[in-house]
Amino acid sequence: MPNRPYIVGNWKMNGTRAMLSEARAIDRAAARYPGVQVALAPPFTLIAAMAAEAQAIGIGGQDCHTAVKGAHTGDISAAMLADAGAKLAIVGHSERRGDHGETDAVVKAKAEVALAQGLGVIVCVGETLAERDAGNAEAVVKGQVAASLPDLPEEPQRVAVAYEPVWAIGTGRVAAVSDVIAMHRAIRATLTQAWGAEGAKVRILYGGSVNAENAGDLLAAEGVGGALVGGASLTAESFLAIVAAASSAREE
Ligand code: PEP
Repeated sequence: MPNRPYIVGNWKMNGTRAMLSEARAIDRAAARYPGVQVALAPPFTLIAAMAAEAQAIGIGGQDCHTAVKGAHTGDISAAMLADAGAKLAIVGHSERRGDHGETDAVVKAKAEVALAQGLGVIVCVGETLAERDAGNAEAVVKGQVAASLPDLPEEPQRVAVAYEPVWAIGTGRVAAVSDVIAMHRAIRATLTQAWGAEGAKVRILYGGSVNAENAGDLLAAEGVGGALVGGASLTAESFLAIVAAASSAREE
């Protein structure tokens, strides 16, 4: 259902078993918002434990390798994610692109292997501050979408794109709603160019310092199909406020 808002928490490199209680609380409360699709992407070490208990939310990985198995020390494959109970994989997060030199081609390969393993994928894109200041934000993001998007899969609705301006991630600096609307329009146009009418089935999420205070405005904005949330997904209290905002935005 592309019009069901999708709220995904990315725990990044945060969380030990002591935090499973937060995930439990999120799962329990998410059942009260059937109109919102909720997922959490904890570190790899917590996926199996969370997936074993989760009833209302999807559990996902924050990355996967381009190969299904092999000599890649320290890496995790999409097949392993699925085996651990994951339902989705985030690929191309700017911290992966930055810390690990991931190119659009690598991100595309990861998205394709995740889809082939039956997972949903969230393909992340976003411009740096220098690119925005130079007036290149739209061109950069459209280029990333075109080159990172998997080839049209059988179930295009399993793909989401997360627009995450790099300068808004973890900074407390959120993009202006008008800029988010404009960028989501540009992304939609790129999706349609790549996949024709099937491009309409892809949800476009916004990410970058989303919190309980700004979620309502962002999620009610034209073309915003959900949110990818970092810091504010680490406690049930702050994350559920965003889920509730998504539910209200949908009803308006
Ligand atoms: C993210 O990591 O995808 C993110 C958006 O982080 P934050 O919400 O903390 O800015």
